[in-house]
Amino acid sequence: MNTLRSALRAPPDPWEQTRRELGLDADPGPGGHADDCNIAVQIVDRHVERGRGGEVAMRFIAADRVDECTDLTYDDLFDRSARVAGVLLRLGLRPGDTVSLLAGRVPLLYLAALGVWRAGGVACPLFAAFGPEPVRQRLELGECRFLITTTSIYRRKIASMRTELPQLEHVLVIDVDAAGAPEGTESLPDLLLSAAPAPAARTLAEDPAILHFTSGTTGTPKGAVLVHEAVVSHAATGRSVFALDHDDVYWCTADPGWVTGTSYGVVAPLAAGVRMVVDEAEFDADRWYRIIEQERVTVWYTAPTAIRMLMRAGRDAADAHDLGSLRLVASVGEPLSAQAVEWGRSVLGQPIRDTWWQTETGAIVIANGHDMAVKPGSMGQPVDGLQVTLLQSADDGELTIVDGRTVEVADHDEIGMIAIRPGWPSMFRRYLNAPERYRKAFVDGWYISGDLARRDEDGSFWFIGRADDVIKTAGHLIGPFEVESVLMEHDDVVGAGVYGMPDPVAGDVIHAEVVLRDPEGGDETLQSVKAHARRRLGATLAPRSILAVDRLPYTRSGKVMRRLLRARALGLPEGDTSTLEGTDP
Ligand code: AMP
Repeated sequence: MNTLRSALRAPPDPWEQTRRELGLDADPGPGGHADDCNIAVQIVDRHVERGRGGEVAMRFIAADRVDECTDLTYDDLFDRSARVAGVLLRLGLRPGDTVSLLAGRVPLLYLAALGVWRAGGVACPLFAAFGPEPVRQRLELGECRFLITTTSIYRRKIASMRTELPQLEHVLVIDVDAAGAPEGTESLPDLLLSAAPAPAARTLAEDPAILHFTSGTTGTPKGAVLVHEAVVSHAATGRSVFALDHDDVYWCTADPGWVTGTSYGVVAPLAAGVRMVVDEAEFDADRWYRIIEQERVTVWYTAPTAIRMLMRAGRDAADAHDLGSLRLVASVGEPLSAQAVEWGRSVLGQPIRDTWWQTETGAIVIANGHDMAVKPGSMGQPVDGLQVTLLQSADDGELTIVDGRTVEVADHDEIGMIAIRPGWPSMFRRYLNAPERYRKAFVDGWYISGDLARRDEDGSFWFIGRADDVIKTAGHLIGPFEVESVLMEHDDVVGAGVYGMPDPVAGDVIHAEVVLRDPEGGDETLQSVKAHARRRLGATLAPRSILAVDRLPYTRSGKVMRRLLRARALGLPEGDTSTLEGTDP
């Protein structure tokens, strides 16, 4: 019966209307191809062609002064990204080459992403707060020939390891100080002065466009590849979940170094032709409320960690501002409590609409959409065009298989693994250089998400937890293995286990237990391990606390039992390794 219900929910090609709106079914003209698709063309040129080029597309709010703004119109995005493309092509960018983007939220970062797509390259955004090791690993795994970054990041994180990255041919810095571009780099602003704008490269819907690294429990980060056609999902969900339109002022607080900041911090809003707000600074409750008031933000997409911090800042902080422009507030990345939803209703004037998706899905899968009554505590329902189910599984994620087939959960409220029928436009097309890992992500014709949930009688999904050991801290997905590997680099560490511990603001924070070579090593050694972790990993990935222990528990196959460590640390019975949700203040 469940199978039947899922099957009935799948319409023939729900994306067709969006394709038409994006001009993707138009007569391609002489020499054109029906599958031509380029994200930059679909989200920028289309507005210019329709006479909307003079409208503001992006407003950047300066880090040091909230009332100082830089505006870029759709014409600006068109002209300047065409020049970035011109520079990249002149430097020898070939179709499908990966260009890493590592900078804060400044105009040239966004222009660079558009320029990469326009030139036919693959944009690989990295989080600017990563330390040198996660950056090195991603540049290497991504086989990046180009890196666009800042002078300061280059000096602090890249220069000393440049020789370890032989494939990295060109580093373009977006800001040049009095000392000029650092040795081994070129100044992008200088190159742009003499660059001829390049026409958009002919890319096809299935050509790779975006590379996002995401974390697994074991091994190196996974490079999930999205294609140009992903724009169809972004545009469609921008409409179906947020009802985005030209007259919206839209603010997504996510950094483009993570998938939300690209899919919904660049592609979806520009596809809809909105005016986007980009704040160059980090979180500050008063500043954020001021931005909503000053810019008259109508649609706001943020994360539970930020919402918890706003809740902590107290109601008065919000009441000091006019937030009446907001017509929709949504959140993603971690569980959103019913209490937070209601806080939104009472303090922001809008309930917070939870949405669920992941790097591999490329776009929102489950949501409390704009036209739905919000069910506080629930992630909502599958968006149009997606067939989503729950498959029977154990709480470690092992799927029930009967006669070679998966089994959908039988009852409402039975916990199961969220699984999605492949075929939506923004679905990742591969893990870079890891075909086996990709193959394992699909079972019996379903994409297996790794998240456990239950579904109520109305078909709304309720998050239960991850079926693996990845950690969600302040909305960032962190692979414990990556952190353990860096801890193990330290000469005095012979064993390491990393896990998440509940935190009232960040959801989870990263904790580590290490076995020291010399158990009597004491505080000094531990301090040195902590300093090493911070230096190599950066603030986001470094463990909040590191504890020296005599021994770590391992499975017979030699894997450290992180769930057991977590259960022990929480004082749970050792058999109870359930994932706990972050708690609200
Ligand atoms: P990422 O690939 O970094 O975007 O992280 C995706 C993961 O974040 C999902 O697999 C979930 O574990 C978690 N996640 C995303 N949205 C939600 C949500 N609304 N509620 C609970 N967890 C979420």
